[in-house]
Amino acid sequence: MRIGVFHSKKISRITLQPSAGEYNLFGDTSFIRTVLVGEKISIKVSGSNVLLEQAGGSKTFKKIKFVPRKNHSALKYSPSISNVKSRIYEDGLELTAAKSRLRLVNIVDMENYLSGVIESEGGGGKYLDYYKVQAIMSRTYALKNKKRHRKDKFQVCDGVHCQAYHKKLTHTSKIRQAVKETKGEVLVDVKNNLVTSYFSANCGGQTCDASYVWNTSVSYIESFVDTFCIHTRQATWTKKVSKSSWETFLKKEYNVTEYQIGNLLYNFEQEQRKAFFIHPSLGIPLRDLRKKFRLKSIYFSTHLDGDNVVVEGRGFGHGVGLCQEGAMNMAENGFSYDQIARFYFKDVRVINYYKELYFKQKGGL
Ligand SMILES: [Zn+2]
Ligand SMILES: [Zn+2]
Repeated sequence: MRIGVFHSKKISRITLQPSAGEYNLFGDTSFIRTVLVGEKISIKVSGSNVLLEQAGGSKTFKKIKFVPRKNHSALKYSPSISNVKSRIYEDGLELTAAKSRLRLVNIVDMENYLSGVIESEGGGGKYLDYYKVQAIMSRTYALKNKKRHRKDKFQVCDGVHCQAYHKKLTHTSKIRQAVKETKGEVLVDVKNNLVTSYFSANCGGQTCDASYVWNTSVSYIESFVDTFCIHTRQATWTKKVSKSSWETFLKKEYNVTEYQIGNLLYNFEQEQRKAFFIHPSLGIPLRDLRKKFRLKSIYFSTHLDGDNVVVEGRGFGHGVGLCQEGAMNMAENGFSYDQIARFYFKDVRVINYYKELYFKQKGGL
């Protein structure tokens, strides 16, 4: 995989240092030297080229490459820019110039990339089958979106725009085991298309229809009751919002009248998930209220308490697709990763991409 790292940062100079294994350094097509653990190499942008800083005289190239000589070789990336921390990534690196800044592409083995993603996306979940679900979802995403950054000359970026990928795996060998044991496995829908495996932290006890969040429905996503997450950490929350800011927002954005406020606005209940606040004809999507008042989810009820609107909510996140806390609970209770995936996504199958899909697709990987 080719991953654009530090993609959102404007980096013009960086220091690279092997933290494991060793690397061969190339400038364009010529071999420069072997770089060992602890040695530091500094590179900066120079117009449309990249410049290798060396004691015996700096040299410019179109492209500089670090090619690993051993399995699990890793490089420490230390950008010379304030407030950006160093990161360690496995495998190779290609540096070029783009728009007067460095373009850093981590050329990484798929399984090493997925291990880094699963760790970066967080979620403690110490259960192997939980990590396996994460592994097949991340692999499915990576393969489905491998052309997303074609104009940037890499496949996916390291931010939440694609999948968070902020470091190599360090935390637990179970992640690597989960990635290995699901090697090549992806999630497909009834038509054998790779699915977009949406997930959020906690659905609050009922997953959300995709259309409530994005105005578009997805065939393998439907709303259903999830009892696996209701006793967990993020199952419920309460937030107070001042009555005046709540009403000002509704009057300004939705022309809600005083009469409507007095008669219908409070004592709003969601036994089942709804898409709109109060009444569809008022046209106030719950997602707008979530965004404006920074609520943890759209699955909430309201009542008045003096000058405050008390918002009592369930769950954390959009609630569409897989519920992480529910999935963790399922894994803890002995469900397999395949069962967990098929619980949260309707009529999907886990298949081996390389055996069943790769040769049927134009262009392959
Ligand atoms: Zn991206
Ligand atoms: Zn849930």
